[in-house]
Amino acid sequence: MSNDNFGISEALKALGIKAENSGSSTGTKWLGSKGELIESYSPVDGKLIGKVSTTTEDQYEEIVKTAEEAFKSWRLIPAPKRGEVVRQIGEELRKYKESLGKLVSYEMGKSYQEGLGEVQEMIDICDFAVGLSRQLHGLTMHSERPNHRMYEQYHPLGIVGIISAFNFPVAVWSWNTMLAWVCGDVCIWKPSEKTPLCSIACQNIITKVFEANNVPEGVSCVVNGDYKIGQLISSDKRIPLVSATGSIRMGKKVGEAVGARLGKSLLELGGNNAIIITENADLEIAITGALFGAVGTCGQRCTSTRRLIIHDSIYEDVKNKLTNAYKQLRIGNPLDEKNHVGPLIDKDAVKMYENALEAVKAQGGSIILEGGVLSGEGYESGCYVKPVIAEASNDLQIVQEETFAPILYLMKYSTIDEAIEMQNGVVQGLSSAIMTTNMREAERFLSHQGSDCGIANVNIGTSGAEIGGAFGGEKETGGGRESGSDAWKVYMRRQTNTLNYGTELPLAQGIKFDF
Ligand code: NAD
Repeated sequence: MSNDNFGISEALKALGIKAENSGSSTGTKWLGSKGELIESYSPVDGKLIGKVSTTTEDQYEEIVKTAEEAFKSWRLIPAPKRGEVVRQIGEELRKYKESLGKLVSYEMGKSYQEGLGEVQEMIDICDFAVGLSRQLHGLTMHSERPNHRMYEQYHPLGIVGIISAFNFPVAVWSWNTMLAWVCGDVCIWKPSEKTPLCSIACQNIITKVFEANNVPEGVSCVVNGDYKIGQLISSDKRIPLVSATGSIRMGKKVGEAVGARLGKSLLELGGNNAIIITENADLEIAITGALFGAVGTCGQRCTSTRRLIIHDSIYEDVKNKLTNAYKQLRIGNPLDEKNHVGPLIDKDAVKMYENALEAVKAQGGSIILEGGVLSGEGYESGCYVKPVIAEASNDLQIVQEETFAPILYLMKYSTIDEAIEMQNGVVQGLSSAIMTTNMREAERFLSHQGSDCGIANVNIGTSGAEIGGAFGGEKETGGGRESGSDAWKVYMRRQTNTLNYGTELPLAQGIKFDF
């Protein structure tokens, strides 16, 4: 079935996507197309969707200067008024939910339902940020000196650079920007070069709101290109905070460049997430959670389930149930809602999947449900692969790495301590889960002797977080936190204020200095 039957042309038109688009914007103004063109091909059908011009160094300079100027006036607007702009963006996103969800699905390859879910996350974070705009509060403390008052306040930082990954091509931008904007910051976004059209669509959606509210040019900037434009951002002293989402390899480079100039970085990097299935698990919940976690988004979520650590008494049962469930999966066009699994992002990703399967065999693991690249009608893009189940021990090199594809490793344990040690026995620390109806096992897993990840769930899989909680992971996942809870504090600088309303000048710690 042609993708036009799924309304792709209408969606592109509604979002203002043209055959050739400028990739550089200062908010409501697109700069001229000067740089090389990125061609965005859909992994769904292999067709060219559109082209986007990359940002040249001159354009980058113009954008940073405009953002610096914008910051001077944006920070003067009261936070609740900035929140009102974000509220209106949330309303626009509601109007464009279907078209943007479709573009996300068509450009990135995730299912239409997941595309809609991603836009819903954007709407949710707008709502969250609106409330937050009236709650950017610090603490007050009692001073040790008489007639003194001490408190802390949070001030905006300046320009926030946002480098994002292909797999959440719109939500990650909104988690960062909506909070940064209510905090009084201005943003420069560099999307993934694999999903540039999503950035054009988001920018077009906010334009009307920015114009209607006279938001200064420079509050919401977009630059496009590959890692080189990302490097400009990470080494730019004018950008106090760089929020980078992507692979550990990228995060180490960005962290080093930002650290070398003593800037702040917020790193959201790769995961290697496991579910422990104990002998006390509700197996129906466990199998469904594992299945969605492992094959959803074709295994291309940072929180995808990569390892199942199963109690030896139920190992064979889980393995059989899961294998049967995998056999029911329908792989195909993600816009067609009867399919469960869409394509990988591109042919490089397919190559990585194939290499990983070779490595599993070479390193002593065994494949129990074979993979393969699909071809023929409906699979013309060459990006559709079969989800794989393998048995492998936790210490295999390939199991220790994050392969961004639907490959699930099964392994056995006999004591809960052993299971937790295996779950923690990787360099990444993003998401984790235990499936159990036993209170002792659940609490043990959540305790300080339990999971070492930023996210630890009970009777829920590893993927699919809500925006209300702080999102992020430990160890080589980078330690960053985004979205809910008090993640907003990263986007502001904290200032401690001590105020003397007395007639004397007592020094702290009782120090005498008679003059
Ligand atoms: P990637 O690391 O290849 O690219 C991510 C972004 O970084 C892109 O915009 C890219 O252009 C840029 N980049 C690459 N090298 C750079 C450099 N040296 N300096 C500055 N920028 C650079 O990642 P990807 O393939 O797009 O995404 C998949 C990865 O992202 C996976 O590892 C996944 O786990 C991770 N991810 C993590 C989270 C999270 O919240 N923890 C969320 C989504 C994706």
